[in-house]
Amino acid sequence: MLKRYSMRFAAVLLVALASLVVGPNAAPAAAPPHHKQAPGFYRLQVGDLEVTALFDGAAVADPNWLNGPKATTDVAVKALQEDPHMLEAAVTGFLVNTGKQLILVDAGAGTWYGGGILGRLAGNLRSAGYTPEQVDLVLVTHLHPDHVGGLTTHDGKRVFPNATVYVAKAESDFWLSSEIAAKAPKDAQPFFQSAQAIAPPYIKADKWHTFSGSETIVDGMRLVPLPGHTPGHTGYEFSSNGQKIAFWGDTIHIQSVQLQHPELTVVFDSDPTAAAATRNQLLPKLAAREDVVIAGPHMLFPSLGRLHKEGSGYSWTPVQFTDHWVESSPSLQK
Ligand SMILES: [Zn+2]
Repeated sequence: MLKRYSMRFAAVLLVALASLVVGPNAAPAAAPPHHKQAPGFYRLQVGDLEVTALFDGAAVADPNWLNGPKATTDVAVKALQEDPHMLEAAVTGFLVNTGKQLILVDAGAGTWYGGGILGRLAGNLRSAGYTPEQVDLVLVTHLHPDHVGGLTTHDGKRVFPNATVYVAKAESDFWLSSEIAAKAPKDAQPFFQSAQAIAPPYIKADKWHTFSGSETIVDGMRLVPLPGHTPGHTGYEFSSNGQKIAFWGDTIHIQSVQLQHPELTVVFDSDPTAAAATRNQLLPKLAAREDVVIAGPHMLFPSLGRLHKEGSGYSWTPVQFTDHWVESSPSLQK
């Protein structure tokens, strides 16, 4: 009893002494907020490949981008208006370190798109321990500015001075053609203008390589033509030690809607019918293969996950943050 009393007394005395030191009315110092986020990169091991997702920025889709059967579009637009978080998306590029080469798949928007919200990829690449000068190859899925803007500065400098850019010939021929641009609708003009400013510094340096067919660019990497979103829209599938990662470009823009309704297209699709057909072919294949990690530039960061069949559509299981150096699928470990 005495002990408890004396402890309480001691506590009261301490508070009284403290108030003498700091003054009776002093408020405790408020902790200032920091506002700064963790660096935007996330690493994943796929076989012997080190894949690093590089955040370029957060994006918000517009429900009016959707096209498709009216009944489905109406339901989707209503749901999106009721829950604007469903419109959240990301812009992400991916760095693949094969041990021999450093390969970037898509380069983010740089200063060409997104009004200053995007364009963080190069900074996050540095945060991840690499420099733009170390990049050997850039594989681009297509020439929209949110995928290639990060290649070139507005004053025409190559951001990846030692890299050769690889793009499908059909894609390069389409967006770099002044004749096609002249006939294109007004809405599409900015896409032609950005492509025609971003590509020339690489073309002049003889570092713009176009491919057609199924040539080998990198050992263990397969080209996957995904026409529709753009004429030469291409995916890249890397295999290593029995594991695979598929970079699917703009197969999905709004994951909250298009996974359940793959028939819905977006206004940016050059050929909406082909885009929906490509999606309808690709998604069942990927959902049936547990050994494939998908890298989707507009899936929520880190834009890496796996696809599963769910009802008449699909669900997405994002990779879960871990600071262990894990295999892409523990069940497949040998
Ligand atoms: Zn895109």
